[in-house]
Amino acid sequence: MRGFPKGMLLVLSAPSGAGKTTLARALVEKTPGARFSVSATTRAPRGHEREGVDYFFMEANAFEARAQAGFFAEWAKVHGNCYGSPQSAVDEARREESLAVFDIDVQGGLRLRKRAPDCILVFIMPPSFEELERRLRSRRTDDAKAIARRLEAAQEEIRQGLEFYDYIVVNDEVSKALGRLNSILEAEKCRRSRAIEVWMEEAKNFQPTGG
Ligand code: 5GP
Repeated sequence: MRGFPKGMLLVLSAPSGAGKTTLARALVEKTPGARFSVSATTRAPRGHEREGVDYFFMEANAFEARAQAGFFAEWAKVHGNCYGSPQSAVDEARREESLAVFDIDVQGGLRLRKRAPDCILVFIMPPSFEELERRLRSRRTDDAKAIARRLEAAQEEIRQGLEFYDYIVVNDEVSKALGRLNSILEAEKCRRSRAIEVWMEEAKNFQPTGG
């Protein structure tokens, strides 16, 4: 057992610009037994991104074939491109009793919940809407049209996250947000539904020594 009863699936979603990817990566780095679920996407790589580390980049027809073959635990279209989380990330977490961290959008989180009802849905909020807009505008990789599209998408994403997710974590400072995520994980490990099998087994095998 790696410390995550039954394997745990942690979904982090956020409006673009809330700093979710940084947080997801930092959490995986600092948590023994945690692994980042590397998604597949049909979008082109951005400058610094590496194949198999940030994403598995693929053509639309290859993505489609994988989706048809049941390769993805969930997949969704985001800003005109397809993104999917490999089912193997879920299977591995279950097998190893480890933690799989998914950096995916709200549609993806809600689809994963249908497949894996015990997944933990955490919505990351920026410290304020003003800060969100500032972060989006300061990104060098996007043109004005893309920024406007992301701002609009961000509002819809926030609406859904606030309505359907289990936890809301404000990312004001990475270290503080990480602390909040760790508290959530610790509480989730204690959930009766996760811990019950372990304790039932203990109880069955327990032999009082007498005296
Ligand atoms: P970006 O293109 O900026 O890397 O990601 C765009 C959005 O797609 C982000 O909200 C990101 O979290 C989301 N995303 C990345 N991978 C997946 C995935 O496998 N499934 C879903 N549903 N969304 C994803």
